[in-house]
Amino acid sequence: MALRFYDTASRSVRDFVPLEDGKVGIYLCGATVQAPPHIGHIRSGVAFDVIRRWLTAKGYDVTFVRNVTDIDDKILARGEEQGIPYWDVAMRNERAFTRAYDVLGCLPPTYEPRATGHIPEMVELMQRLIDTGHGYAGDGDVYFDVRSYPEYGALSGQRLDDMKDAADADPRGKKDARDFAMWKSAKPGEPAWDTPWGPGRPGWHIECSAMAAKYLGANFDIHGGGLDLVFPHHENEIAQSKAAGDGFANYWLHNAWVTTAGEKMSKSLGNSLLVDQVVQRVRPVELRYYLAGAHYRSMLEYSDEHVAEAGQGYRRIEGFLERAAQSLGIAGVPDVSADARPAAFDAAMDDDISVPQALAVLHETVREGNAALAADDDAAVRSAFDAVLAMVDVLGINPYAEPWASGGGEGRETEVIDALVHALLDQRQQARARKDFAAADAIRDGLDAMGIKVEDTPTGARWSLN
Ligand SMILES: [Zn+2]
Repeated sequence: MALRFYDTASRSVRDFVPLEDGKVGIYLCGATVQAPPHIGHIRSGVAFDVIRRWLTAKGYDVTFVRNVTDIDDKILARGEEQGIPYWDVAMRNERAFTRAYDVLGCLPPTYEPRATGHIPEMVELMQRLIDTGHGYAGDGDVYFDVRSYPEYGALSGQRLDDMKDAADADPRGKKDARDFAMWKSAKPGEPAWDTPWGPGRPGWHIECSAMAAKYLGANFDIHGGGLDLVFPHHENEIAQSKAAGDGFANYWLHNAWVTTAGEKMSKSLGNSLLVDQVVQRVRPVELRYYLAGAHYRSMLEYSDEHVAEAGQGYRRIEGFLERAAQSLGIAGVPDVSADARPAAFDAAMDDDISVPQALAVLHETVREGNAALAADDDAAVRSAFDAVLAMVDVLGINPYAEPWASGGGEGRETEVIDALVHALLDQRQQARARKDFAAADAIRDGLDAMGIKVEDTPTGARWSLN
């Protein structure tokens, strides 16, 4: 059976045929680096990491591009609020995103272009659009004329007549309220680049059109992103690139978002869902297992309890691998044999990356392996071990592979630290109970000196790293 994807543009499941035999180009819309990532931001990175790994496992040479949007209204506003340059905000948050991708085992992209490094490419694309009657300049802004492109609205399934006005901040020189800004003229004090239409900065959509073409060519295989980007972002990318004569993406893949209490996760929920914070409470490999475990097109309802349940599932797999390795006398890092992957697992992955079905095959193999261990059937243990290893490797959760291999990764260390801190907090609690406040304070001060902040809450003491 062939690999197939649900393509948002055609609203159908289509066999995947690459433009060039044996090669795949993927462009994934990356972060707008205005704040550090929460769990909702990072799901797309994990989902497309699994897709990329599966394409690689199938023998494709994958070029994976994920951009960084390092200039935008919100980044400028953050810089203003904090009295620091916009690039300070952008660079700090870009590092936080990189940390989050790394800690969750996402392979680094082949290329990771920043928007501000590609202004000449954007100017060239806008010039082409102006020359062909699809773009126009007005009061220092440059707009895309949506009426000039008859397919506008096709991706999101909207008719132009039903569309709302484009939400551009200052529609100074617009001819039609639905036209969107490709370039925004600079206000006093704002960062600006010179163009034939005056100094200004790029709009979000033109960035992706220009960067995708630069690194993947005018026509490429897959464009990905979160479901919330379909309109206006991806609709506008398509309009710019196709109106300029580029073939652009052949397949459009969108991941669903993460919800909390039924609502789309957002920054307003506070810091507790920041990836940096969650990985203090949860082993990163278990968080990845949880995020990758749902189908990428299904909404995922986040709670610490759901992650803990997923963690149990992962530990069943890990426990089997450990016991099997011991029983088979395997020392060191075992080789992964792709041939050992069950056909049913491959079929599930080929079916629009159906990870839930693939995990069902994986857990069935673990059950068979555990039965083989109980029956001392070495040959069956070995074949289950090889099969499980090959499957976890594709999903990026192979405990013998980096980043998990180095002593179980940061998560294992966090677990140990958590246990130690709680042992000390118990002692502190006992000291308080016997009214030995000097001893209780000494424990707290000792933790403080190690950089561990203790907070007393109605449900007990909580700790975090300073
Ligand atoms: Zn984009």
